[in-house]
Amino acid sequence: MFIAFEGGDGAGKSTQAAAVQARLESIGRTVLRTREPGGTPVGEKLRALVLEHGQGDIDSRTEALIFAASRAAHVRQVIVPALERGEIVLCDRFIDSSVAYQGAGRGLGLEAVRELNLWATGGVLPDLTVLLDVDPERGRDRRAAEGTEDRMESEPDDFHSRIRAAFLELAAARPEHYLVLDAGQDRAELTEAIMERICGMPG
Ligand code: C5P
Repeated sequence: MFIAFEGGDGAGKSTQAAAVQARLESIGRTVLRTREPGGTPVGEKLRALVLEHGQGDIDSRTEALIFAASRAAHVRQVIVPALERGEIVLCDRFIDSSVAYQGAGRGLGLEAVRELNLWATGGVLPDLTVLLDVDPERGRDRRAAEGTEDRMESEPDDFHSRIRAAFLELAAARPEHYLVLDAGQDRAELTEAIMERICGMPG
């Protein structure tokens, strides 16, 4: 079973993925938790490359291709082998992040970025995407409180609003594959809602 966690900066994806992993392991499931960009040695280098450069250094198409390259390696080397071993894969960000950040945020177009990534992954898609919908202002406050700010803090509000809208649009297009939650809810309640959905899924 392949589950992706998506949402804007400061939505709490990593916190929820870790909490869900602990809950699933407590009921005897084998879980692989991984993240994008990253997840493989090459992917982690690509992640560092993008994160250490400002938007001025890497143009949008280059950025989109780097994320897609990281994802191609991740799917082949990590995600598909774990799924074949029968494990539950929890992935912090996947294709929707590229569609939202590079497609909508950077203006490359949702469809073009989706196509690029479907090519990169060979069409592998999550069985379920948990979308933690966060108000950009709230996300910013949360990152400031956690000290996890990065180059995204310098992006204007409408950049983050476009990203949020794109995530919601993707969820609305394939609602049966999404669980959309208000990221502002209590953390334990969010974990509970995600667990309820996962436990109701076949396989
Ligand atoms: O998920 P995480 O916050 O660790 O992502 C690292 C950084 O990369 C964040 O600033 C995120 O907004 C950014 N990102 C991006 N485009 C993506 C995925 C992540 O700009 N497709």
